[in-house]
Amino acid sequence: MTPRITRALRMLSPHPWLGPVAHPGRPPSGARRRGPAVRRRSAVVAAVLGALAVPFAIAPAEAAPHPPRTGFETSDGAGWTGLGEEQAFLGAVDRASDRAAVDRIGTTKEGRPLQLVRIGKKHPAPATTVLLICSQHGDEPAGREACLTTLRDLAFAEDRATRAFLSRTTLLVLPTANPDGRAADTRGNADGVDINRDHIALETAEGRAIAAVVRDERPDVIYDLHEYGATPPYYDKDLFVLWPRNLNVAGRVHGLSRTLSEQYVRPAATGSGYSSGHYGIWTDPVTGDPIRQTAGDGQERILRNASGLKHAVGLLIESRIDALSDAEKDDPALNHRRRVHSQRTALDGLLAFTEEQRARIRAATGLSRVSGYADRGPVYLGGADNDPAEPGEILADPPCGYRLDAAQYAGVKDELALHGVRSHRDGAGAYVPLRQSARSLIPLLLDQRATYSLTSGQADTAC
Ligand SMILES: [Zn+2]
Repeated sequence: MTPRITRALRMLSPHPWLGPVAHPGRPPSGARRRGPAVRRRSAVVAAVLGALAVPFAIAPAEAAPHPPRTGFETSDGAGWTGLGEEQAFLGAVDRASDRAAVDRIGTTKEGRPLQLVRIGKKHPAPATTVLLICSQHGDEPAGREACLTTLRDLAFAEDRATRAFLSRTTLLVLPTANPDGRAADTRGNADGVDINRDHIALETAEGRAIAAVVRDERPDVIYDLHEYGATPPYYDKDLFVLWPRNLNVAGRVHGLSRTLSEQYVRPAATGSGYSSGHYGIWTDPVTGDPIRQTAGDGQERILRNASGLKHAVGLLIESRIDALSDAEKDDPALNHRRRVHSQRTALDGLLAFTEEQRARIRAATGLSRVSGYADRGPVYLGGADNDPAEPGEILADPPCGYRLDAAQYAGVKDELALHGVRSHRDGAGAYVPLRQSARSLIPLLLDQRATYSLTSGQADTAC
C-alpha cells in the first residue's frame, strides 16, 4: 500500500456502522414505542455494532486528501449527487482503495454506464456475497446516496473489525440501477419501463444486467433500496421493509429474510429514532393493527421476490419521501438528509445481520441452490406467504420439463441463459428439465398458466 493511501486511510471518519448519527430531525414519537423483544434485539445489534467499532483516528492536518465525497455530501443534502459527480466519485474510490473495483456491466438506452462496485476480494473462500441494488426507480434517490457513501466508507475503512468483515464478505453495489431514470427523475427507464417489474421478462438493459450479476455472482443476500409516497395517518412510517413473499422461496431463505427485516434492519432503524413497518400494509394509527394491503404481493417479476427465487435472502426497503414536519417542509435539505440517513441506519442492520448470521445464511442459500435437483414438491404459480394460492395456481405434481419449439427457443434463449436456466437440444427446439437449481423458477418462465411467462412451453408429463 502506498504511503499516500495509508495517509488517506487515516483520515477516515468513524466506522460506517456507527457513522455520524446526528439526527436530522425529531424522530416521530411512535418510534420510541418498542416492545421488550425489540429492545432486547436492539441491544444485541448495538453490542455487535459496538464490538465492530473503533475510535475516531484524527489525522495530522497536513495529511493526504480525504476519501472522495459525494455531491450530496458536499452540498449538505441540498442536491442529489449528479451522474457526472458519481463518475468522478467512483473513479476516485477505484483508484485510491486497494479493495474496491468498479466494472461496467451494461449500457442504458441513452448510453449511460451501468456500473457494479465490488468491495472485498473477488472470491474469498468461504465468503458471504451481499448485493445492493440502489434506486431502480430513478425518482427515488435516497437509497442511491446511502449506497454511495456506504461503499466508500467500507472501501477506505482501516480498522481491524471492518477488514475482518471484508475478508469474509464480498459487497457488490449497483449504485445507480436506472441512470436514465435518475437523469430524467422518472420512475421508469428511458422507455418508461419499470425495471422492478422486469425481473422475469428481462426486456430492459437494466434488468438484464442485474440478472447477469445474480447469475454470475450468486449473491447470498440481495438488498433493494427504494422510496415511497406516504398516505398519513395510515401509511407514513420513515421506513417500510418487506421480504420475498413468493411461495416458491425456500423455507430457510424466506425465514432468514424475515429475520433480516424483523431482528436487524428494523431494530437498527428504530434504535436511531426512525419508525418502520411492513411495505404495502396500512395500519390503524391508534392501535397499529393492519387494516388493508395496497402493495407487496408475491409476484415473481419484482426483484424482492425474484431474489428469493434465485436463492438469495432478500429485502426491499423504502424510505419516506414526504416531508411531514414543518421543519422538513421549510428545508428540503433536511428532508433529504433524513431520507438518506434512515437508509444508512437500516444498512447498519444489514451489515450486522451479515456478520452475525453468515453461517446460517450460507447454509440456507447453499441448500436452496441444490434443492431443485431433488425435483420434489409443488410449484406455485400464484399466492403469497400471506395469501394462499388458489388450487388452480398450484402445480402439485409439476412436469419433468418443458419442450420449446425452434421459434419459441429462439425467442427466449437469451433470457433463459440470463436466468441461469439449463436446457438441451430437442429436435429443432430445446428441452428444459425441471431437475436443476432453477426448478421452481422454470414453470414461472415457461408454463402457459404463469402470469408473466416468457412463452408457453409444452409440459412434459411423461416421466
Ligand atoms: Zn421504488
